[in-house]
Amino acid sequence: MKNETQVFIYSDYPSTSLNIDLVIENLRQYGLHIEHRGNLIDFLSLSEERLYNLATDFSSTYIDDISAPLDIINPVDSSEIEPEINRLLGRENVRGKFYDGYWIQRILYKLFSEKINHELNNGCIHLIFTARLFGTFEDRRYHARVVLMGVPSLISTSGLVEAPAKPREYYYVKGRLIQSDLGTSELDNMYKGRFVEYDDPKISSILPSYALQAIFYEITTNAFCDNPQCCLSNSHWQEEVLKIQYEGVLCERCKEIIRQ
Ligand SMILES: [Zn+2]
Repeated sequence: MKNETQVFIYSDYPSTSLNIDLVIENLRQYGLHIEHRGNLIDFLSLSEERLYNLATDFSSTYIDDISAPLDIINPVDSSEIEPEINRLLGRENVRGKFYDGYWIQRILYKLFSEKINHELNNGCIHLIFTARLFGTFEDRRYHARVVLMGVPSLISTSGLVEAPAKPREYYYVKGRLIQSDLGTSELDNMYKGRFVEYDDPKISSILPSYALQAIFYEITTNAFCDNPQCCLSNSHWQEEVLKIQYEGVLCERCKEIIRQ
C-alpha cells in the first residue's frame, strides 16, 4: 500500500549538534515522504509587525511557577519582547526560559493555519525541532517534555537533556555534595556518558525515535508503544533514552503499522 503521509520538518534553532539531514535520512527508511522546510521563521515569512506579535505571544507563555498551570497567558512584559525577537531570529540563546508547550503549539497552529491551511489535515504532519524547553502541566506541576504531539508537533533538544531523569545515584550524590557544602561542578563529569548533554552528537541518532513517536501519534493517535524495547516506548530515564531511543529499533508490531 502506498504511504500517503507527508511529513514537513522545520527548525527553530535547535542544538547545533542536531544534524537534521541525518534525522531525515533515518526517517526515509520507513518510506515516509519528507520535506525539509528549513528555518521556521523564514518559512513563515512574517512581517516585522507579526514577528513582534509572535515574540509578544511567546513571551507571555513563560512558566515562572511550575506548580501553577498557565490557564490564561501572562500579561505582556515589554522588556521580554526584544530578547524574544532575538531568540526567534537565532541571535539569542533560549537557555533558561521554560515555556508552556500547549500555548506555544496553539500560537504556532494559528500562524500555520494562516499560511498553509490546506496542509493542516489530509495526512500532513508538521514537526518543528527547537531548542526551546517546554513543559506540560500534569499531576499538579509542569514537567519538561522532549516531544509534544499535535499540530504542529514540537521536539526539543533541550527537553532531551532536561526531561528524562538522570541516574538515581546522580541525584543522591548531588544531594550529599550540597549538604556538605561542596560544589557540584564535577558531578556532570563523573556521570559523563550516562545522560545526554546540550552539545551531544548523539542527539542526531536519538531524535528520529521521537520524530517517529510524533508521526505515529498522527497516524494511530497512540504515541507510545508498551514494548520497552521499542523506540516508541515512553522512556523516563536518560539511560533508557541512551539505549532504546538511541538505537532506534521498532518492535515488530510498530514496524507492521508503519509499513501499512
Ligand atoms: Zn513498538
